[in-house]
Amino acid sequence: MRSFALTARPPAGEAGPAPIERDPDIIASRLEDAAHFTGGHATELVTPVSEAQVADVMRKASSVLPVGAQSSLTGGATPMGETILSTARLKGIESIGRDRVRVQAGVSIAELDRQLELASKYYPPAPTFDGAFVGGTISTNAAGAATFKYGVTRQWIEALTVVLPSGDVLDIERGATRVHEDGHFELHLADRSVRVDVPRYRPPDVPKVSAGYWTGPGLDLIDLFIGSEGTLGIVTAATLRVLPERPAFCLAFVPFPERYGCLRFVARLRELAQQTWRDRDPRGIDISAIEHMDARSLAIIREDGIDRANGVGVPDRTSMALLVTIELPPGMSAEQAYDEIGRARLPGAPDTPLVRLTTMLAEAGVLESVEIAVPGDRARTAQLLSVREGVPAAVNARIGRAKHARDRRIEKTAADMIVPFSGLERLLSLYDDEFARRGLDVAIWGHISDGNVHPNVIPRSYEDVESGRAAILSLAGEVLRMGGAPLAEHGVGRSRIKQELLRMMYGDEGIAAMRRVKRAIDPEWKLSPGVLFSRDTT
Ligand SMILES: Cc1cc2nc3c(=O)[nH]c(=O)nc-3n(C[C@H](O)[C@H](O)[C@H](O)COP(=O)(O)OP(=O)(O)OC[C@H]3O[C@@H](n4cnc5c(N)ncnc54)[C@H](O)[C@@H]3O)c2cc1C
Repeated sequence: MRSFALTARPPAGEAGPAPIERDPDIIASRLEDAAHFTGGHATELVTPVSEAQVADVMRKASSVLPVGAQSSLTGGATPMGETILSTARLKGIESIGRDRVRVQAGVSIAELDRQLELASKYYPPAPTFDGAFVGGTISTNAAGAATFKYGVTRQWIEALTVVLPSGDVLDIERGATRVHEDGHFELHLADRSVRVDVPRYRPPDVPKVSAGYWTGPGLDLIDLFIGSEGTLGIVTAATLRVLPERPAFCLAFVPFPERYGCLRFVARLRELAQQTWRDRDPRGIDISAIEHMDARSLAIIREDGIDRANGVGVPDRTSMALLVTIELPPGMSAEQAYDEIGRARLPGAPDTPLVRLTTMLAEAGVLESVEIAVPGDRARTAQLLSVREGVPAAVNARIGRAKHARDRRIEKTAADMIVPFSGLERLLSLYDDEFARRGLDVAIWGHISDGNVHPNVIPRSYEDVESGRAAILSLAGEVLRMGGAPLAEHGVGRSRIKQELLRMMYGDEGIAAMRRVKRAIDPEWKLSPGVLFSRDTT
């Protein structure tokens, strides 16, 4: 039965204190996440093996920062004096059912995918970095390349087990606990009951928004915790929905000589894929992701030899390249794929998704430059993915070098904005104008099928960092006016600029409403203080 109230239970599993590490050398390796903010510090790292040990840490420590793989790009997994609670030992895959899997928080997405592949199943909403842990992806409501077809992590979570700052445990099942019509939940803990009034702002209507606490009419309690960046409770286990049958995948690296033609091609591919889903057409083109790299990203790939290392040719004067994921019927073989592609331009070719796609590439005038990884060709798939993933790594390396050689204050200066797809061309023009006006060197890549791309400044000085931040704030205003969100998938964390973007999205009243939620569930402000917003001092 549905209710707006939920009663907590005592923690289960192996009791006693969690294993604790105080060796400064070991702790030193946990003081940064992938945002590489400076100033991380901590004296304790705990690695609980059970829910009961997580609860024990929560009761005894004065402040706690849960961490998964620390791949956060926002500083949200950078300790600032808290006890670091790593979920690395909560790594059991408890059950794999027909379309559900029960996992502990410390299982990596890569390991989950390996086990699911053995069972021919598939969990689609994975971030690009597959070393991320399930608990981290839930806490950031991660999204990835395949959001276009499959949505974000939130849409795949059926149940959560969460340890609250009090040490009480909530088992939250999707659909079982919905907000009261006057906008509150009730949580019955061991020694008190808590009223949680939910915020009344409305997140923008775009495929990805990872910005503060989720809310809306009929809010499900599970959705308040998903994406809350570890500020309300520690996820110890989750039930994920999975596809009972794993599709076959084909990747295509597609370079375009000019941007407008490339954007038109993306728009057409999106339309065709949506039509295929609508009509359930087995011959239709089915796309789950379209990633893109702009001209500057491609120049970096060439400068660093990433293209040569992976045997991928990027023609001169390419101004934008795509990495397209095509889904094909389960079990389709490499031979069958090559056969269809080879016959696509011949008379009497069969009408299949790959034939249609090959024809489309030929008509766009780019077929000769396309690089393909057919189903089952893991080596070629890895190479094409390495080209796309090589861009952020190469940009981060440049930032690291500038930081050491020029100014210690230099840091990652990047935006994670999303607009409705129809506004993407305008957004890219706005980026061009704003960054050119400021004389900034910027590479842009991302999830173009969602209208979500990441401009990254390549700073030559601290002034570039400051100018890049000002550009992001100014562009965020435009993005909000276009019905988009300046915080799409990376969350907010401890980033000052992202915290300012959160305020721009929901206003001071929105932040105050989030603080009330936090205060109700975590009155001592014990969990992740400084993540999302500054610590409550009232
Ligand atoms: C190369 C690269 C590519 C990336 N691509 C994407 C992408 O495509 N899409 C995307 O969304 N993100 C992406 N990210 C960001 C990052 O991978 C995701 O945010 C991911 O979900 C973080 O998982 P994690 O296990 O590393 O969590 P961490 O970084 O360890 O933690 C992230 C946040 O969640 C909290 N947290 C962690 N575990 C728990 C838990 N069990 N309970 C409660 N709170 C917890 C932490 O306190 C922190 O606030 C990328 C990062 C890198 C480095």
